[in-house]
Amino acid sequence: MWKKATSITMASALLLGSAVYMNDQAEANNGKGKGTKKDQNVILLIPDGYSSSQATAYRWFKGEESVMDKHLVGMMKTHSADTEVTDSAAAGTAMATGEKTNNGMISVTPDGENLETVLEKAEANGKSTGLVATSTITHATPAVFGSHVVSRNDEDSIAPQLLENDVDVLYGGGAKYFTDDMLDQAEEMGYGFAETAEDLKNASKEDKMLGLFAEDAMATSLDREGTEQPSLAEMTSSAIDVLEENKKGFFLMVEGSQIDWAGHANDIGWSMNDTKDFEEAVKAALDFAKKDKNTTVIIAGDHETGGMSVGDQNLYDTNLEFVRGITATGDMMADMLNEDRSNVAEVVKEHTGLELTEEQIAEIQSVEEDRVAITINQFVSEEALIGWTTEAHTGVDVPVYAFGPGKDEFAGLIDNTDIAKNIEEVLKLK
Ligand SMILES: [Zn+2]
Repeated sequence: MWKKATSITMASALLLGSAVYMNDQAEANNGKGKGTKKDQNVILLIPDGYSSSQATAYRWFKGEESVMDKHLVGMMKTHSADTEVTDSAAAGTAMATGEKTNNGMISVTPDGENLETVLEKAEANGKSTGLVATSTITHATPAVFGSHVVSRNDEDSIAPQLLENDVDVLYGGGAKYFTDDMLDQAEEMGYGFAETAEDLKNASKEDKMLGLFAEDAMATSLDREGTEQPSLAEMTSSAIDVLEENKKGFFLMVEGSQIDWAGHANDIGWSMNDTKDFEEAVKAALDFAKKDKNTTVIIAGDHETGGMSVGDQNLYDTNLEFVRGITATGDMMADMLNEDRSNVAEVVKEHTGLELTEEQIAEIQSVEEDRVAITINQFVSEEALIGWTTEAHTGVDVPVYAFGPGKDEFAGLIDNTDIAKNIEEVLKLK
């Protein structure tokens, strides 16, 4: 049947001339989702809380250049409308809308007026759109692309807006924010559902996908094994499979959400392993872009977290090799302690290889409950010769990486608002 259709097309092409035939071929390619020069795609990957210290530390941890390294094109300013040190909501708003707002606000001006996002513009231009994160899908960074709320904490209001905005692929945690009514509504809208990595195998047959893989945040890189959750790379590949079916192109945002949480926790093992997961997602995006040729891939953190330094304690050295052996986050180790924390030396030795001193053991045993994990993390970081200056964000510039036809737009020292503005250019959004 298909052969016959092709031969008829060939015959009419011969009759009508090569120009018509070439148009037919372009149409045919469109049908298969390959797109034409006009139909550009953008994949924006955001390693939350990642700057040049994290990039350098990761290179030593990995033992060679990262997949991102060779695509470096510039640096990005990160400040928000009201402070030199942004949070993820204001940083994301700038990257999603091209306008700065105050910390805590999700794609609204400091006065509370809605700012149109690049995802909404892409939708209005007939493109498909997707959001992927390892936090709740209603967390600040994915939220800024598909919702508008005055406070990032209002995740109950963010969830319905993501559906109302018709975001075609939503993958992440946060099932608890999606009520039965909302799931019914999603089904009526034509969404396919996924709850496990296995469920993603059939996703490419669907036009739209809602994948909620955890009630709250998804597992970290270090405790995903044994769960049914997909990796960030698996979610990214699946999202591309769904979105590339639209001949008008797509916009996809992928967040490595927990690199930031590792920074807040001063947890070098978590930071490096979640960066590894993020790098796999970058690789999936680049592999697609290299084949597709009409896809621009942009990678930029929204800000730095933790004030990480590569080198610490007045020494001219680091010990990232030691970090390769870490098998648990500080939070996981804290959860493994018994009531009087008398097993702390064993737990830390088993999961990091570090032999705690008597003083260190005494300190971990004496701190408040909510300081146990970070105290372990600080001793582990000392061994790695990785310093931390804060448990919050810092205001340093972040590296920007880009690949594909639009990459030059992102070169040099740019502002976070340029991310949205340049994506609009690349996608030719009206
Ligand atoms: Zn952030």
